[in-house]
Amino acid sequence: MKYDVIIIGAGAAGFGCALTLGSANDNFEWAKDRKYLILDNDRSDMKVARYNNVTGVEQGINGIDLLTKLKDQLKKYPACELKHETVTKIVRHGDEFMVEAKTGNYQASIIVLATGLNKFDIECAGVVVKENTFVPKPNLIYLENTNNVISENLYVAGLASGVPTMFSCASGDGAKVACDIFYKWAGKVAVVHDTKKTA
Ligand SMILES: Cc1cc2nc3c(=O)[nH]c(=O)nc-3n(C[C@H](O)[C@H](O)[C@H](O)COP(=O)(O)OP(=O)(O)OC[C@H]3O[C@@H](n4cnc5c(N)ncnc54)[C@H](O)[C@@H]3O)c2cc1C
Repeated sequence: MKYDVIIIGAGAAGFGCALTLGSANDNFEWAKDRKYLILDNDRSDMKVARYNNVTGVEQGINGIDLLTKLKDQLKKYPACELKHETVTKIVRHGDEFMVEAKTGNYQASIIVLATGLNKFDIECAGVVVKENTFVPKPNLIYLENTNNVISENLYVAGLASGVPTMFSCASGDGAKVACDIFYKWAGKVAVVHDTKKTA
């Protein structure tokens, strides 16, 4: 199956991106029937965190419990599929990307790398891994980008893009990349807000 967008990484940024993408399908003709795949190998920093200062999130929540809530939230959007996979290679073939992973290959028009700041272990032409000097700890990385774009249709979101390390920054960066993708599809700014009438 071919996907419109493959997001690699299901942490704060990957969910921020997927939830925003999935929420557009029922609201806009240009988003109708779009399909999104999230591939993740379960190494999110959320698994070792506890959150007291995330806007709107229950204080003191364990990161593992928050991940479970995000997975449940994603189920509201059938266009979004989450798969446990370790991605090893991304190859561009003309206008498409082939994503190679441990148990299968996947095809998409757009890729979002939401792989966090710990390491980048995917072979992918054009990705430049840099030392993450925005964080006062050694051996952390980000991926060189301009306004979240690495190259045509290849985006980076979350701590991998070099945003500050707070959950909301990572999650918001994922949502921002989704909005950039909407702009590309719609040819204009698209606002995906629910109201009391649509909720
Ligand atoms: C101990 C700790 C405490 C924290 N406390 C707070 C706090 O109190 N408040 C706050 O705001 N923030 C806190 N944070 C920060 C917050 O957790 C991060 O900002 C957030 O998790 C970053 O989201 P992300 O999506 O960029 O990366 P991550 O959440 O790390 O997600 C990256 C995902 O990419 C996946 N991935 C990577 N490579 C591959 C691959 N090749 N194939 C498939 N999947 C891949 C990983 O498995 C992972 O699930 C804390 C972090 C830590 C470590």
